[in-house]
Amino acid sequence: MQEYDAIVIGTGSGMIVVDRLLRENPDARVAVIDRDMAGGICLTRGCIPSKLIISPVEVIYDLENLSEFIDAEVKGVNFEKIMKRMRNKVESESRMIEKSLKEFDRIDYFRSSAEFTAPYVLEVDGKHIRSERIFISSGSRPLVPRIDGLEDSGYLTSDSLLHLEDMPESLVIVGGGYIAIEYGNFFARAGCDVTIIEMLPRILSSEEPEISRLVHQELSEHADILTSHRVVRIEKKGGKKVVHAMGDNGGRSVTGEEVLVAVGREPNSDILRPEKGGIETDERGWIKVNRYLETNVRGVYAVGDANGKHMFRHVANREAVIAYMNAFHDAKIEMDYSAIPHAVFCQPEVASVGLRENEAVEKYGRENILIGFEEIKSTGKGQGLNAKGFAKIIINRETERIVGAHVVGKAASVLIQEVTTVMALNAPFHSILHAIHIHPSLSEVISWACGNLMSVDDYHRKIEKEL
Ligand SMILES: Cc1cc2nc3c(=O)[nH]c(=O)nc-3n(C[C@H](O)[C@H](O)[C@H](O)COP(=O)(O)OP(=O)(O)OC[C@H]3O[C@@H](n4cnc5c(N)ncnc54)[C@H](O)[C@@H]3O)c2cc1C
Repeated sequence: MQEYDAIVIGTGSGMIVVDRLLRENPDARVAVIDRDMAGGICLTRGCIPSKLIISPVEVIYDLENLSEFIDAEVKGVNFEKIMKRMRNKVESESRMIEKSLKEFDRIDYFRSSAEFTAPYVLEVDGKHIRSERIFISSGSRPLVPRIDGLEDSGYLTSDSLLHLEDMPESLVIVGGGYIAIEYGNFFARAGCDVTIIEMLPRILSSEEPEISRLVHQELSEHADILTSHRVVRIEKKGGKKVVHAMGDNGGRSVTGEEVLVAVGREPNSDILRPEKGGIETDERGWIKVNRYLETNVRGVYAVGDANGKHMFRHVANREAVIAYMNAFHDAKIEMDYSAIPHAVFCQPEVASVGLRENEAVEKYGRENILIGFEEIKSTGKGQGLNAKGFAKIIINRETERIVGAHVVGKAASVLIQEVTTVMALNAPFHSILHAIHIHPSLSEVISWACGNLMSVDDYHRKIEKEL
């Protein structure tokens, strides 16, 4: 049986482990396994292709906001070119990664499925391989719910959508989370007739309610959004798909050329058979890890989507570094999830880090929380762009630390970074006030929010009146 210094399953964040190990240890031999295109989900099916597809419509939104001042007419998007650019980029980057995996003599690259057969032993390509350091970065895949008629009618997922050649005339999206909203926003603004059906009372339900509300308002100018409706049946009729949904006050049926199912992700652990390696999973199949990202089997780590914690590429990257340090340097570093930012790339853009208001209130008590608030239109640049949105900063009154921040509006994913840095450094909120912000840039919204603090109750009174 071939023995390796490390076995890495998945070529996304797992490549960080491979890179570090080979750089630091000139004699190390590594087995790298991926059943799909090299580069992992982020490059081949997730972050990169989705942002290459959806980003162009941001310009349409900006033009709409400035229609009073710019007399422009958008005739449509060139879907074929957008998809071609996306495929070219993904394929060429994946080929580059594959080439380096194949050419590096200390890597054995298996483009194949792996499964555990015993602790520390995997079967791949009919061979058994073994290592006492195994990194599971096996990712996740679209969750397809059991809906009557769904399989027979046919549907798209965030994976198969990438093979579309033509833009559908109409699209029904099942789900209202970030993948559903990013694609829904794109197709709706690109001219497709979009209906979004979410079973919860609001879209983007893991964001602050006032943020969901603004995105809903803005997006509903171009798409139909049905909340509190559960899709119960789908049928094919005259080449189209009819989606039947039930709400508290009765049913609605919506017809679309295509249906996109975007209701969440599920683990790939059924393929890997971790139980045969003695590795514990939770009831949904996510691999259980401790604070050091180690599974219950010593030397076996699970990072990224595989552990089901925060399913973002930047989190997977950090986890991979920590798992590597703990595995090869016995560093005993704990993964800290307190300042994990994320963004939803729709219009208006959404970004958030740390706790939501209800979580902060529950953790620290209502009287110990201060909220800083400012609208983007207060800044000169925001006014110039007619930009909607706001920044909400949640502060622990006693420690003066920011415990969460939420931004909606132009460049939210950029604006949140300043707060993330302050949180990561465990610096007080007033360090943001101490830093000079460029006037009259959008970044002032963060600084001004930190200078405009109020109690939780005053915040709610304010937004009720003003938003
Ligand atoms: C549409 C979409 C948009 C997204 N947008 C963003 C975004 O904007 N920002 C962000 O941070 N995140 C985004 N994500 C999430 C991000 O893509 C994932 O969090 C990240 O790619 C997970 O990386 P990973 O290292 O855990 O897995 P990866 O290494 O990327 O993927 C796992 C790989 O392992 C392979 N594999 C699984 N099991 C086996 C097995 N048994 N044998 C062999 N190979 C196996 C899989 O086929 C896959 O190729 C998005 C995801 C989707 C679907």
